[in-house]
Amino acid sequence: VKIRLGIIGTGIAAHQLHLPALRELSDKYEIAVVCSRNEERASAYAKLVGGVPYVLDYRDVLKRSDVDAVDIMLPIELNYQVARDALKAGKHVVVEKPLATSLADARRLVALAEASPKVAMLAENFRYRPAYLMAKSIVDSGQIGEPRSVVVIVAALMDENNEYAQTTWRIHHKYPGGFVTDAGVHQIGALRTIFGDIESGFGYTQQINPALGEMDTAHMVFRTRRGVDISLQMSFSVHGHSEDRLLIMGTRGSMAVNPDRIGVLPDGGELKYYPTPKSMGYREEFEDFHLAVSTGSKPLSSFLEGYKDLEVILKAVQASQQGRPFRIAAD
Ligand code: NAP
Repeated sequence: VKIRLGIIGTGIAAHQLHLPALRELSDKYEIAVVCSRNEERASAYAKLVGGVPYVLDYRDVLKRSDVDAVDIMLPIELNYQVARDALKAGKHVVVEKPLATSLADARRLVALAEASPKVAMLAENFRYRPAYLMAKSIVDSGQIGEPRSVVVIVAALMDENNEYAQTTWRIHHKYPGGFVTDAGVHQIGALRTIFGDIESGFGYTQQINPALGEMDTAHMVFRTRRGVDISLQMSFSVHGHSEDRLLIMGTRGSMAVNPDRIGVLPDGGELKYYPTPKSMGYREEFEDFHLAVSTGSKPLSSFLEGYKDLEVILKAVQASQQGRPFRIAAD
């Protein structure tokens, strides 16, 4: 069955990330209506997706009986309100990351999702990125023994020419951590997928380019509940090099997760490379959402997982500002 989708927000994510995935899955989705505040942008997107109706207020999407589910791609300070209203209106919800801008709001969304018969999914594509799912299955297979120590490096340049750095809600962000929260929450989603829940950590953060908001660079360390220590280094003001890699050290070998291939070297064995699919996980997340809506299965990226991702990044940002480590109580 095709899910009739209401698109809320027609910016970068709607054009470049979700639309290509939805087009690949045209047997599973049809766009029923689109919404953006600005009429020109709303009508342009409505035309782009085949001349569907558009509205300027998201509440008019929620009122429609020809909408089964909404896909929320808004400035993140609106995620809480719009996801809440959509669930209350009886729609299935897929909302872009992060789940909310505060833990209190995220907790309210988790409670609403748990009480709702509808599917509530966080569009955390890193949870579906094939490279990370392959990394998880190699780790779980025991080929490198028990994972103990992990280094993650993320380096990119988001200067004034970058389109993300031109969205006012990112630069004049109404949430702690600016780019470090907005982008770093992806890394937390990936790390928690591979290594499980995080128990404690600390962070140092910096602002290298003031045009990017409060901070753009972070070093964070985490210990997972199963005793894996992780060092995450990320910066969005790196001139020259661009990196997106993990090195996982285990008790009987190590592996390097690169965007295009995973290199595995078990003790006494030979280095083997496994190519990883190029996908960033957008199609896969919409496949999971469709499965959940049509069969009642639980999406891999539940609101609870989104809450836990947000908790780690917000607490690590706060730790860097207060100069003391954080702990997260067990469930
Ligand atoms: P963006 O380009 O600024 O788009 C936001 C959209 O929301 C615009 O179309 C804006 O258009 C609309 N909007 C703002 N306020 C609204 C309101 N009150 N009612 C209806 N529409 C409203 O931002 P973006 O980069 O696409 O990011 C959107 C979301 O996607 C964020 O959650 C972000 O974290 C996420 N994202 C995820 C990834 C990923 O890799 N998973 C990458 C990029 C972004 P109008 O001005 O016309 O209203």
